[in-house]
Amino acid sequence: MKSVLIHCCCAHCAAYSVQHWREQGYEVGALWYNPNIHPYTEHQRRLEAMKSLALEVNLPLTVSEGYDIIAYFRQVAGHEGERCQHCFRLRLAKTAEKAHQMGSHAFTTTLLISPHQKHDLLKEIGSQLAREKDMEFLYADLRKRYSDSRHMTKPLDLYRQQYCGCVYSEWEGYTK
Ligand code: SF4
Repeated sequence: MKSVLIHCCCAHCAAYSVQHWREQGYEVGALWYNPNIHPYTEHQRRLEAMKSLALEVNLPLTVSEGYDIIAYFRQVAGHEGERCQHCFRLRLAKTAEKAHQMGSHAFTTTLLISPHQKHDLLKEIGSQLAREKDMEFLYADLRKRYSDSRHMTKPLDLYRQQYCGCVYSEWEGYTK
């Protein structure tokens, strides 16, 4: 059976994404690596929600060691206007590395279900990393299933975030 490691940004984006790749015939494993979520207490709340979902849907979840917030800021400092591409690369590179170590055939990300993310960039960065590791980056435009995914997690009453993740997005979200 083909296997895929899916980078999970949050439980609410993971719910349908995991189901989708299972329906495509993949054995799905999940990775939590999100040093872009600030502050740390917010990161922990989203991680707890992800752990609850993983238990509920019998999803093997690997939590990356450490928080790596310094690596995140080193990547984006001075490039705040294009920060998302650095943020995507940091998270997808870790996912590709872990997938390779774990012997997965492919990797992907739950960010592909979000209408708020830049799909062309995700596709470009994922494909580039996949070529470097001689692996496959699974791309699917799941944006039409964004609200379905949120309906799936509603009965679980999990914590729901109000902004993308970084302090910049929190600031923009609350001042717009
Ligand atoms: S807005 Fe979201 S994707 Fe962009 S840098 Fe911040 S956390 Fe990362």
